[in-house]
Amino acid sequence: MSAFPNARFVTSAHEPTDFCEDFGVEVAFSGRSNSGKSSAINAIVGRRDLARTSKTPGRTQLINFFELTPGQRLVDLPGYGYAKVPPAMRAHWRHLMDAYFGSRTSLCGLFIVMDGRRPLAETDWQMIEMAAGRGCPVHVLLSKSDKLGGNESRDTLRRIGAELGEAASAQLFSAHSKVGVDQARGALKAMLSGRAAGESAGSALLQPWERRG
Ligand code: GDP
Repeated sequence: MSAFPNARFVTSAHEPTDFCEDFGVEVAFSGRSNSGKSSAINAIVGRRDLARTSKTPGRTQLINFFELTPGQRLVDLPGYGYAKVPPAMRAHWRHLMDAYFGSRTSLCGLFIVMDGRRPLAETDWQMIEMAAGRGCPVHVLLSKSDKLGGNESRDTLRRIGAELGEAASAQLFSAHSKVGVDQARGALKAMLSGRAAGESAGSALLQPWERRG
């Protein structure tokens, strides 16, 4: 699965009035601060430095818009859940998310990046609900899977997959070892072309219907 060689940064939005033009299709990426979201975006897009990886999580509250191909965008939503984020910053995050999910007609899917060693966070569920409210498919990347052993990886995928149920598809992912990068690209391209993420069906993708029983 090829990357996006012509991907480019479009704009950063601190306020809804700064959102770029709402045409074509776009997939949003969300996740807790430090979940590995920036590294995941860079690995999937195939560019080392597209999204900034940071050592100071939770400091910026910007929505970053990237063009993947003309009319197709990837949207990097601000990280959440950092314990020391002041209330005013949290309120701004909420305001941005409500405006984004409430207004973007081009939104066609959501990726959630979560550290595979951590549980699903309350805010991850809030994001899933916002996407569901828009009828958008959700795909979860269990990141940093290089930190998990083989059995641990399989157990994590099964456990989180069961928790997500019908709400989202899920896969193992590592920006460092590149595990799952092709599947994630497939899921992204499927969303951008209007299919559910899992319809690109890499072997490591766990679909809701595979979790029953
Ligand atoms: P963000 O805050 O969610 O955008 O996360 P970053 O991409 O900036 O990554 C946060 C930290 O996790 C950094 O120290 C990264 O080096 C590390 N990290 C990101 N992806 C991986 C991965 O696949 N494996 C491991 N072991 N560490 C990772």
